[in-house]
Amino acid sequence: QTLGDFFAGMAQRQPTREALVSRHQGLRYTYAELHQAARQLASALLGLGLAKGDRIGIWSHNNAEWVLMQLATAQVGLILVNINPAYRTAEVEYALNKVGCKALVAMPQFKTSDYLGMLRELAPELAASQPGALQAARLPTLRTVVWIDAAGSGVAGQGDEQPGMLRFSTLMARGDAQDARIDAIAAQLHNTDPINIQFTSGTTGFPKGATLTHRNILNNGFFIGECMRLTPEDRLCIPVPLYHCFGMVLGNLACLTHGSTIVYPNDGFDALTVLETVQAERCTGLHGVPTMFIAELDHPRFAEFDLRTLRTGIMAGSPCPIEVMKRVVGDMHLSEITIAYGMTETSPVSCQSDAETPLAKRVSTVGRVQPHLEVKIIDPETGAVVPRGERGELCTQGYSVMHGYWGDEAKTREAIDEGGWMHTGDLATMDDEGYVNIVGRIKDMVIRGGENVYPREIEEFLYRHPMVQDVQVVGVPDQRFGEELCAWIIAKPGTRPSEDDIRAFCKGQIAHYKVPRYIRFVTSFPMTVTGKIQKFKIRDVMKDELG
Ligand code: ATP
Ligand code: MG
Repeated sequence: QTLGDFFAGMAQRQPTREALVSRHQGLRYTYAELHQAARQLASALLGLGLAKGDRIGIWSHNNAEWVLMQLATAQVGLILVNINPAYRTAEVEYALNKVGCKALVAMPQFKTSDYLGMLRELAPELAASQPGALQAARLPTLRTVVWIDAAGSGVAGQGDEQPGMLRFSTLMARGDAQDARIDAIAAQLHNTDPINIQFTSGTTGFPKGATLTHRNILNNGFFIGECMRLTPEDRLCIPVPLYHCFGMVLGNLACLTHGSTIVYPNDGFDALTVLETVQAERCTGLHGVPTMFIAELDHPRFAEFDLRTLRTGIMAGSPCPIEVMKRVVGDMHLSEITIAYGMTETSPVSCQSDAETPLAKRVSTVGRVQPHLEVKIIDPETGAVVPRGERGELCTQGYSVMHGYWGDEAKTREAIDEGGWMHTGDLATMDDEGYVNIVGRIKDMVIRGGENVYPREIEEFLYRHPMVQDVQVVGVPDQRFGEELCAWIIAKPGTRPSEDDIRAFCKGQIAHYKVPRYIRFVTSFPMTVTGKIQKFKIRDVMKDELG
């Protein structure tokens, strides 16, 4: 089945149930309404001259238009390209050209980001060409730009009159939900056709574009929802970005495959809006990366909100301190919260815990391998499977493994071996019962004087210091030891720990070679828009500082 078929079936089964609530836009759709709107948009996209296999970018924060694009493109075989709303001129130019986008749907502006201005800089020809016939030297494949004209977007009065661009509402109005071409194309689609190009987070460097098929992400969304025991009664609050697989697959597709309701609290992340939304919409689920849950729990008004409707949700993306997990389960009532582990290249989830997983395992592991997938843990040097309990590189295989990196055969071959195994670059262990623990990334492992040091272990330890709110440990080059450890610490509000406090805390508790040589107090970490901390940037800052 394709995503389009699956969704059509769901809309037929439960037409009147709420499918989508976009709080910041004040929009609500039932399943039938969402299905009709997606068909209308699909028809309009065909009207732009787009055909099966063409790429169309979406450069936007979370909103209803995003979901419509996800469903409309799936129905007519277009490949949706998720473009990070944090991208600036050079990055969007790279992404659009890398995959040869023919059209782009974008927000004209968001807070201080001027998307319209950035595109005009890239394509001054925008103002001179006709819609559907753009010819821009720096964006050679791009033919049409569509502006999302949501309330407050700032395009009012300049939308349609601008040559070379079109408003989303105008485009929609041209579509016909009964368009027979949609069904004709849908009948030719196969579940192994590409549906999506998703860029990785860029945690370790420049983002890579993973090509994913219907089979990849539809199955993954379904099994994720199974682990969460989603039903049509569930309402899932999704503050994580749609541009990333966390929002799009673990959020949207887990909901849509189970007939549940998608709830967007906001376009960007804001802890207070999330708390308000959960209460007002009586959400039963909440997703987030650890930094988001920390921000919600630590919000000064946290205690004012009634969050007792919450039951489930997913914590993923990066390792979560055990103390935070305990508060999420206790103070936020997320008794069934599950931990998921995965990567964009594997659609993304390969391991997940569920409500049955004992809490001790849920807080300390990423659960077990999902149905119909395989994992193995190997010695990265020899490729041999390591004994249970030992560290090695996690590899995964099954329906979830991406088609490849778009236009990059060499990189694809580096990541997926001849046996079809995806080499994740993550270090993991597996216990006797099959629970997997992620202990870090191969790239982040520090080798100090011949000793392997896992930053995660030291982070977990320092996190227990009463004045430490958050901490990141990286390796920095060192003449004598090859690498030395460096800790960046965010202090708890109102506290001022010193380097000596931190060292004294380590003394006698962890081996001397694990005590960070460099300790810096900071107020924030360099982060991707998905809320992941970019250690490579911390390393770069330290390299500059240490010369
Ligand atoms: P890039 O590949 O561009 O450097 P990225 O790897 O962060 O960025 P994603 O595909 O978004 O891009 O993230 C996948 C990675 O996130 C995994 O390889 C793993 O390192 C980390 N990760 C995901 N879930 C978890 C988890 N539950 N616990 C620990 N780490 C996780
Ligand atoms: Mg990665």
